[in-house]
Amino acid sequence: MTKYYSVVSELWRDRASCKEVGVDIFFAETEHRTKEQANKNKAAKLMCSKCKAQSECLSYALNNKIEYGIWGGFTSRERRNICAIFKLKSYTIPLTKTIINKTIASIKEQNQQIKI
Ligand code: SF4
Repeated sequence: MTKYYSVVSELWRDRASCKEVGVDIFFAETEHRTKEQANKNKAAKLMCSKCKAQSECLSYALNNKIEYGIWGGFTSRERRNICAIFKLKSYTIPLTKTIINKTIASIKEQNQQIKI
């Protein structure tokens, strides 16, 4: 079982957009951000939004309760919020796809409200 799980995790990592880049931008988040940290967070989230393994990555981070870094386009604080809302023991890939799509829709809606 453990071996199967690790093989699955390696498969999505092969499709990751961040596979060839350093991890620096994914671990810049802190509670008190500097402008440089904020720019790194933005760059990481942009890369995640175009990643073909985004759902698997977020699912992996939620299921393994990873506390640091941006995974699947979500900061540790945002992942804690997801866990507080859903309160699940396991996050499937379809569920994480739904979470990602709803978050994107919500951000678009907020941006439209700001423009009005
Ligand atoms: S979603 Fe982001 S952190 Fe996860 S594999 Fe893709 S680029 Fe890397």
